[in-house]
Amino acid sequence: MNRLITTMKALDLKPFRVIQSLKGTFRYPFFQLKFLRIQGSPGAHPASIAAIHLNPADYGFPVIFLQSRERKRALAEFLIRRFHEGIRRFARQNRGADGSGSFHTVELSQVMLERDAVVFNGNRLELRFIVSFPSRSKGGGSFDAEQAVAMLDGELNRICSFTFDYLAFDDGAREELEAFASVLEDRRQIEAVMQKEGWVAFIPDGSVIPRRSGVDDRPMGADEAIEFNSPNTLKVTIPLETKPVSGMALKEGVTVITGGGFHGKSTLQKALERGVYPHIPGDGRERIVTRQDAVMIRSEEGRSVRRVDISAFVRDIPGGKQTHSFSTENASGSTSQAANIMEALEVGSRLLLFDEDSCATNFLVRDQLIRKIIPPDREPVKPLYDAARSLWEQHDISSVLVVGGLGIFLKKADTVLLLDEYRCMDGTSKVRSLLGNLEKQEKFPFDIPAPRELSIRNFDPSYTNTRLQKTAPVRIKPLRKSPGKLEYGMDLIDLKAIPQLVEAPQTQTIGMLILELRKKLAASSGTGRTMRDMLEEIENRISEQGLSIVESDYPGTLSKPRLYELAAAVNRMRSLKITGL
Ligand code: ADP
Ligand code: MG
Repeated sequence: MNRLITTMKALDLKPFRVIQSLKGTFRYPFFQLKFLRIQGSPGAHPASIAAIHLNPADYGFPVIFLQSRERKRALAEFLIRRFHEGIRRFARQNRGADGSGSFHTVELSQVMLERDAVVFNGNRLELRFIVSFPSRSKGGGSFDAEQAVAMLDGELNRICSFTFDYLAFDDGAREELEAFASVLEDRRQIEAVMQKEGWVAFIPDGSVIPRRSGVDDRPMGADEAIEFNSPNTLKVTIPLETKPVSGMALKEGVTVITGGGFHGKSTLQKALERGVYPHIPGDGRERIVTRQDAVMIRSEEGRSVRRVDISAFVRDIPGGKQTHSFSTENASGSTSQAANIMEALEVGSRLLLFDEDSCATNFLVRDQLIRKIIPPDREPVKPLYDAARSLWEQHDISSVLVVGGLGIFLKKADTVLLLDEYRCMDGTSKVRSLLGNLEKQEKFPFDIPAPRELSIRNFDPSYTNTRLQKTAPVRIKPLRKSPGKLEYGMDLIDLKAIPQLVEAPQTQTIGMLILELRKKLAASSGTGRTMRDMLEEIENRISEQGLSIVESDYPGTLSKPRLYELAAAVNRMRSLKITGL
């Protein structure tokens, strides 16, 4: 560390870019600090990346936290969040000009994802964080050694003691670490039972489902929120290693969630949509588990679609356009929704979630009056109403639909959840006695098309600015000013309508994985490899080796998206090329 201090002091007042010479490893009394990437201009984004190396056992962390996949992941998630809290407590921040002179971690959300912010190597651990070195004056400026020493000597030592000194942790901190681990371990056991029993979701009693606001994903306050309590008819108890947990088990098949407006339907559906991810302890949704292949489907006017077979839902559109291989630069509400379904099925989803609020109405139903005015041969769209049961009976594809106004769906439901003032009831027998038997619909055959093949000429990451006549070989970055948009080469991929993409770092990772896909395509000589095969191979490699397979310029800033969101991003690329007939 003395060497770091003397090196930094020698750089004082020099042009900022001299900090490049700080690359390398520096010893602190209890850890090592290594700069992985140094950003030569202050205020540039992302700033420099540094890593702490240590052996957690040296700090008194019980070795049990290094002994299973879940516990390691829990430890990683706990540490990066504690480091974040350490920054909040001990760093003055903005010590230099223009917001330079600050520490950051990767942006964290309510979910616990596989990340590359903390990685394990044998019994050693590496925690990566973002540091922007302090500059003395605006725009370029000079290096401010005095502030840098205050940061990397004083503040960083305090942040690291707070984060890593397990022996000095109070009971609260130790319990929190335990809680991270038990969420992941409990979920593993719940998932195993769900798989055995054929359930698509499990919502424990006592879960807090509503959020603080539409823009704040933290739980609603305990004074206002009504906790989830399973209807007795759907209640099960799962014996966990720690203590048993009771809650609602949702079976496969067609489920409809209904109830009056503002009674909590969409909120419940959102919890199911998010249940594919573990949430942090205290979130209220941490033990809600939804089957991993659940995909929330909505309509998305204006998206591009490339050679997707949507003929199961849409036929004979004006202009003689073929819907067996449908392409458009500007999908309508219903065609976009049909494409979203077919693409999710293509990569293996067998659980579709819908909310009337975000569906195209004509995609859901055609009522009797409209049938009189527009005869069937003039209406290209076959609504989901006709397909929902075929999907289940012919292909084991389950769905969960929220309906408020379209009661006709109740006739199709194996299970009806009725929400009344945020309380969940089992409305199935009431619906059956009032509306009669389940209306099955085997007569509509539903074909699932073969997976598409990618052309080898895909995913060029280079970016040319025609005005400046400049080309960058690789440009992959989420747009900072407009969340949910990813720049990849000359493509601007719009990810705003992908509800299960929950964190900005996932978007960054998607960009890097598309580059990975390009390499795979090049290596495969471009024949006989479907998009699904390639995405699954990438997914398998990440499962085995973690996010380190991604060669990121900014290590530590990634978090893992699901296969479905990666596929969704690829499918929204306007430059996408599919081979075939
Ligand atoms: P719906 O889809 O039935 O119209 P929403 O799910 O949008 O209703 O919920 C309406 C409002 O009720 C939202 O502001 C939501 O935060 C709140 N809310 C939902 N569930 C609960 C609950 N369990 N306890 C308290 N408030 C809730
Ligand atoms: Mg709603």
